[in-house]
Amino acid sequence: MTASFNLLIDGRLVAGADHFDVINPANEQVIARCPKADVAQLEAAVAAAKAAFPAWSARTQDERAALVDTIADRLLARADEFARLLTSEQGKPLDQAHNEIMGTVFTLKGFAQMRVTDKVLTDEAGHQVFEHRTPLGVCAAITPWNFPLILLANKLGPCLVTGNTMVAKPAPTTPLTTLRLGEILADVLPAGVANIICDQNELGPLLSSHPDIAKVGFTGSTATGKKVMASAAGTVKRVTLELGGNDAAIVLDDMPAKLAAQKVYQGAMTNAGQICVAVKRAYVHESIYDAFLEEIAALARDAVVGDGAEQGVTIGPVQNRMQFDKVSVLLADAARTGTVLAGGAPLDRPGYFIPPTIVADLDENAPLVREEQFGPVLPVLKFSDIDDVITRANDSDYGLGGTVWGKDTDRAIAVARRINTGTVWVNQHLAIEADIPFRGVKQSGLGSELGEAGLLEYTQAHIVNAVPL
Ligand code: NAD
Repeated sequence: MTASFNLLIDGRLVAGADHFDVINPANEQVIARCPKADVAQLEAAVAAAKAAFPAWSARTQDERAALVDTIADRLLARADEFARLLTSEQGKPLDQAHNEIMGTVFTLKGFAQMRVTDKVLTDEAGHQVFEHRTPLGVCAAITPWNFPLILLANKLGPCLVTGNTMVAKPAPTTPLTTLRLGEILADVLPAGVANIICDQNELGPLLSSHPDIAKVGFTGSTATGKKVMASAAGTVKRVTLELGGNDAAIVLDDMPAKLAAQKVYQGAMTNAGQICVAVKRAYVHESIYDAFLEEIAALARDAVVGDGAEQGVTIGPVQNRMQFDKVSVLLADAARTGTVLAGGAPLDRPGYFIPPTIVADLDENAPLVREEQFGPVLPVLKFSDIDDVITRANDSDYGLGGTVWGKDTDRAIAVARRINTGTVWVNQHLAIEADIPFRGVKQSGLGSELGEAGLLEYTQAHIVNAVPL
């Protein structure tokens, strides 16, 4: 534990008023002391972002975008260092950590290419109506622990390019990569444009209710998202909420069982299942159900579970003790009522390890099927009728993502059209790109991230409606 970390407030890297320990989930050892901001430091960060706003928003989009591009280049140059740090705080295997760093670079670079332009609504005989957009002011970014850096980039990129300033707050269990990024931000951006504070869950409510914050970009659980929405109401703040999901994978009868098992396994177990759009329940046509189960259970049994920093490890630990306990409870219940084909119990060793687990024969109302497990435990269910499986997939308060798998792509697309979620992938999964909007429906979210829609979320539209005298 030698590295030190600082908050970023008004262009300066500063110590916290207090500190707390950050744990490596692979061995439960303390890896760093995280600076912890107090309320005065939160106020200083918001004040700095407010003071920086007039000059920053007066710059051209090209100037701001060039600096966002520079941040991406600086991150790219330190990708290996960031990937190692990410594995140590988050737990994901090093290759997946590297993918997240590269995804962060591409997201920032993607936004650096985007521009907001006026939209002409009428231009006839001197009658001009157009919509122009302005930045909102100070925006807060509140991020979770599963993809700490890329989920910040989804907010930081559009926020800065459109001329806003930011106060970012990472999750308490994964603050370190965000704080390292703060060093780059301190170097590249004018003072106050981006600020980073850390907490142990106390400061989020103060950000979402703060009168000088115009918008909150939040990614996290649905339960916390509701609190953010409620506390933002006091000042009619803009909110973008990217929340939980319970995504179904639907495997149609013309899908080869082995290929389906490989794809669904990957979609369910990458990042130890801690992906908002992970496959959280698989519905497999009865004609290939048994073969699918055999294949996916074999994949789960072949997984190499361990410290993500070690070569060859394919599944790291669950990120934190609270989540480990939550998944363990769901797992124990599923093991009682269903048939466990692989995995089945947390590993008896230091670290928050749950082996990839496949459970069959569960009731549709079993907690593992109804709730978001957010861990490496997958229920597999059988279906025979397409209308029935679509009803079951849609029978959820969530509506984030989902996948449909089948050789007849048109038929699979026809099924995908009937799934009530923000994104449905057909014959692929986890394809998330800077220029394609991403959003949840129902209790999975509000507003969009990424794409032009995600850029515009950081702006206010105004109409000018003019006629000649
Ligand atoms: P969480 O809701 O516990 O925490 C998220 C963030 O909110 C953290 O920074 C936390 O400190 C902060 N926070 C806690 N209480 C707050 C409050 N009252 N007001 C404001 N902020 C507060 O979520 P988590 O457990 O870190 O993340 C896992 C969840 O995130 C899962 O449900 C997952 O599906 C979801 N998620 C969604 C997406 C998406 O794009 N839809 C992406 C990743 C994760």
